[in-house]
Amino acid sequence: MRALVWDGTGLYVDSTIEVRSPGPGEVAVDIAMAGLCHSDISPMEGRIPQPTPTILGHEAVGVIAAAGPGADVPVGQRVVLTVLRRCGECRHCREGRPNLCPASGLPVASPFSRDGDIVHQFVRLGAFAERIVVSQEQVIAMPAEIPDPVAAMLGCATVTAFGAVEDRARLRAGESVLVTGAGGIGLNTVLAARAAGAGRIVVVDRNPAKEQIARTCGATDFIIPSDPSQIAPAVQALVPGGVDAAFECAGHTGLLDAAIKSLAGGGRVVVLGLPPTGATLDLGVRDLFHDKSLLGCRMGSVDPHRKLPDLAERVLRGELDLTPLVSAVVPMEGAAQLVDDLRNGRIDRGFLRVGSAS
Ligand SMILES: [Zn+2]
Ligand SMILES: [Zn+2]
Repeated sequence: MRALVWDGTGLYVDSTIEVRSPGPGEVAVDIAMAGLCHSDISPMEGRIPQPTPTILGHEAVGVIAAAGPGADVPVGQRVVLTVLRRCGECRHCREGRPNLCPASGLPVASPFSRDGDIVHQFVRLGAFAERIVVSQEQVIAMPAEIPDPVAAMLGCATVTAFGAVEDRARLRAGESVLVTGAGGIGLNTVLAARAAGAGRIVVVDRNPAKEQIARTCGATDFIIPSDPSQIAPAVQALVPGGVDAAFECAGHTGLLDAAIKSLAGGGRVVVLGLPPTGATLDLGVRDLFHDKSLLGCRMGSVDPHRKLPDLAERVLRGELDLTPLVSAVVPMEGAAQLVDDLRNGRIDRGFLRVGSAS
């Protein structure tokens, strides 16, 4: 089959990749479309250690092609993937918090190979491939009416952002918000803040070209800092006393520091962007006085098996329009250009057409 392989130096389409059959509790999924997330670029930049050759991609929609022994997802079912390979039995899984399951992030044996040699998979997925084998815990049914790119985005950027706003920060109507980083997660966070009835929504990004899409999503103010130290004073000038919730979406400790300094009393900062391995913060602990909170957030701090169907319903009811974020849909051969466009802020969310439409 065809898959997009990262060999440590370049991305190329390889038509000699093999994928094994699903084992107990596993399913094979024919991928229709996969989004390009910043996390997929992190291994290329050395921000996430990843053995090569590897198949990247983790935000995807497809159709169940085969089910292994004991798997009860019907063949032909349209599904969205999740990186969380929950065990289903631990305390966290039983409490509906699979993002805390110790097993959910462990590496598993890759289903991919080439000439008998292993080809690795990224974050227990590897969705830039025509077929993938995953645990049935990693697939969530998706209504047919939702377009492929929107369905794919729901599985990572959207569920993460809406979970962060609604479930982690528990944003209330009228509260003010700061979002640092207007990429796919950041813009989904702006949409979620607007959906939650936020008052002021201040967005920060170095790229002036992001202002228009940020405002389309619901930003009321847009700051282009030349240095992170300018952010907190600018936010305080716009929202006297500071914001009620801040979402750091760029994985940048300077922005995290600025977000903490931008908080009002009772405010909370949610860490959404993945910082580089080993990154540290010089935290002035006094900055957290007045009931301020610094909150980690993995995959939106939600159970995707509950949150995704809820988000899909809201899309179908017309409450949620994610289409402005769909910037480009290209074949797998266009991946290198798409990566370059994402790195340079020319697109919001780009998608690879991997197989036929689902
Ligand atoms: Zn992602
Ligand atoms: Zn578990």
